[in-house]
Amino acid sequence: MNPMWRTLHAPDLEARIWKFVHEHVVPAAEQIDRDDVYPTELIESLAREGFTTTSLPTAYGGQGGTHRDALVVFEAIGYGSAALAISLITIYQSQTIIHDYGTASLKERYLPAYSTGLKAAYALTEAGHGSDINHLDTKATRTDRGWVINGEKAFITSGSAAELFVVLAETDRGVSAFAVPCDLAGISTYVGATATTFGLRNGPHINLVLDNVEVPLDHLIGEEGAGVRQAVGTLAHSRTLAAGISLGIGRAAIDGSLEFASGREAFGQKVLDFQGIQWYFSNLVTQLDAARLLTYQAAQDLDDGIQIARSTSEAKLMASEVATAAASTAVQVCGARGTMESAPFGRYLRDAKAYEIAGGSSEVLKNTIGKSLLRTIRD
Ligand SMILES: Cc1cc2nc3c(=O)[nH]c(=O)nc-3n(C[C@H](O)[C@H](O)[C@H](O)COP(=O)(O)OP(=O)(O)OC[C@H]3O[C@@H](n4cnc5c(N)ncnc54)[C@H](O)[C@@H]3O)c2cc1C
Repeated sequence: MNPMWRTLHAPDLEARIWKFVHEHVVPAAEQIDRDDVYPTELIESLAREGFTTTSLPTAYGGQGGTHRDALVVFEAIGYGSAALAISLITIYQSQTIIHDYGTASLKERYLPAYSTGLKAAYALTEAGHGSDINHLDTKATRTDRGWVINGEKAFITSGSAAELFVVLAETDRGVSAFAVPCDLAGISTYVGATATTFGLRNGPHINLVLDNVEVPLDHLIGEEGAGVRQAVGTLAHSRTLAAGISLGIGRAAIDGSLEFASGREAFGQKVLDFQGIQWYFSNLVTQLDAARLLTYQAAQDLDDGIQIARSTSEAKLMASEVATAAASTAVQVCGARGTMESAPFGRYLRDAKAYEIAGGSSEVLKNTIGKSLLRTIRD
């Protein structure tokens, strides 16, 4: 680990996860991206090490850690492979919404399975509804025995391997969240026109079709009609982790390009000795240090239960944009070698840019921050 980056939390956990990343994740990253496959074996190894359940309470087989602990894990994995990290984030999203809002029976049924490697996806988006999930074409109808869901979801990360989907569907009382195991009758997936993205490639972002899928009564997560509030609350958690992934990408881009500039010579000196090149790094390191502090503060806010919407949105907004700047500058500093397919900088740039959109676009985050400011001023 580059000593340039200060440890901000949990040095023992940090040492453990960075060791895992250097030994297992960094060597696999290029292939995951190139082949666009779900990294099943790595997810199972992470589960065995307890990294898929860092902040899940011990009562459900988790590690009982804090949000800051989870952030340490995501920053390190994002450094090695953002594609692996988003495979992990959909696992955290689904366990968080079930833990925070699910019935006791739902929690007992699904939460312990995460420590043995349950793979899960978070299905909000539809062809006609992306940022705006207040109305959905996927519908759920109440029956005597439970709920029947019909509709189609798109862009579903980890969907190619998921054993459990969290699905948002509209009911009579508004948008509601459901836990939907993949083996129910009427569920199918396909690789549609939106499956292949240029970044964050952990297997196709599949379409999920729900055709008269019957789910038991207790698979409604939380209150009927509260799905958007619950999903947004869950996204506040995962936005901090998404910011952590962006921090990891940014660090990897800076570390890699610094190493190149330290060794490469031009006009009789090392590239890093040009002041113009040093200034690139001065700007990036300053921005990344600031984004790290902001993101660790957002995770602290989650642990303390305060100012969640604003600080987590600020963290993802800043970290994702800094990561893109770092990756773009890394290509520039490395010259032609930065553009090579065999170099990791193109992957960093593609992953960083995709994360300015996935999990809440920068524009939507700015809206959330703006609303929070107005509330503060007017209340
Ligand atoms: C790599 C990747 C993985 C994804 N994984 C998942 C997943 O696992 N599950 C899932 O449900 N979805 C997933 N998505 C979908 C993602 O959540 C949506 O792409 C995102 O919410 C934006 O929706 P959209 O693309 O439909 O854009 P739109 O909502 O159509 O927006 C288009 C543009 O308008 C802007 N815009 C929209 N509303 C406003 C507004 N009110 N004010 C200002 N600007 C606005 C947007 O920021 C964007 O720039 C993924 C997307 C990507 C790229």
